[in-house]
Amino acid sequence: MSDLPWKHIPPWNETGMQVCYNANLIFISCFTGHKPFVDDFMSVFLCKCLFCCLKGPDLIEKANGLHGFMNWKRNLLTDSGGFQMVSLVELSEVTEEGVKFRSPYDGKEILLSPEKSISIQNSLGSDIMMQLDDVVSSTVTGPRVEEAMHRSVRWLDRCIAANKNRDKQNLFAIIQGGLNAELRKACLDEMTKRDVPGFAIGGLSGGEEKDDFWQMVTLSTDHLPREKPRYLMGVGYAVDLVVCVALGCDMFDCVFPTRTARFGSALVPWGTLQVKHKQYAKDFQPIDPDCQCPTCKKHSRAYLHALFKSDTAAMHHITIHNIAYQLTLMRSVRESIVEGRFPEFIRTFMKRLFPSGDQYPSWAVDALASVNVTLD
Ligand SMILES: [Zn+2]
Repeated sequence: MSDLPWKHIPPWNETGMQVCYNANLIFISCFTGHKPFVDDFMSVFLCKCLFCCLKGPDLIEKANGLHGFMNWKRNLLTDSGGFQMVSLVELSEVTEEGVKFRSPYDGKEILLSPEKSISIQNSLGSDIMMQLDDVVSSTVTGPRVEEAMHRSVRWLDRCIAANKNRDKQNLFAIIQGGLNAELRKACLDEMTKRDVPGFAIGGLSGGEEKDDFWQMVTLSTDHLPREKPRYLMGVGYAVDLVVCVALGCDMFDCVFPTRTARFGSALVPWGTLQVKHKQYAKDFQPIDPDCQCPTCKKHSRAYLHALFKSDTAAMHHITIHNIAYQLTLMRSVRESIVEGRFPEFIRTFMKRLFPSGDQYPSWAVDALASVNVTLD
């Protein structure tokens, strides 16, 4: 057991590797032979395979995969298309064979099987591929959750068998089981028998109670192998990122920072700053005076406020800032872990976000207490 006050022992402690893959915004692979950069830029490209089905992965394959197509030298992660079972539930039907989607444009049916998903991801050449899983919303209860969990295990085996590029492309399993501890435990037992390079915790962050959320996260990290990366899917609020690192998660993805930017909301260490508000019309400071991003170096709140009314470029500027905010946050988390002061970092971070301690979300207080991190 760890004698550290949080659950996760950074792997460099155990293996001596000059890399800390804890708390990257997205995992930086040390399995592919790429030199991992602690200060790497965001290295994720979540690809919706469903849309690749429509557009054709052959073109990407001809360009030497997504790395060549995008001229992207660092790591890439592709998603399997499974999440679209939740986001396009009216247009999809799940059978043992796979998931059938009906095109919203011409009504044509597309079958996404585990084999098809892996074949597409092999063509894309990503460093981390996700298995096709049977995803149900975290608010669904009853026998469908159990069915989806067992099917996800069977589909994992089909995905493993279908992977034609095992040396270079790392296939991650996705733990399912909804909010049912027994089912999640059964899924963990079964999937960790497979020798996959990493594990994701799926089926959460879909509108469930935060108490249920962190309990399922901590149950999962308790049973996942320490030496392999743990990727918590769909999580991106600053508090959630910091707390879930303490619970033992290494990787995250979320549309939140970019989506909220399009509504004019800039992420800052003290919460959010809504540039559309009138109070910023004559405010010539940058969004965050301490931020080193191109937006903050160049533009004022007043300029962004004015620009937002007439030009979508304002959304792009705020998007760049929000991504920089998250990368800086995760870099600070990593540094604090490397330097052995993560609990202090959490206390300072929470105090800045919630200046009066009684505003701390109770779930975060409980989750942190479970790994012996107490807040002031
Ligand atoms: Zn900035």
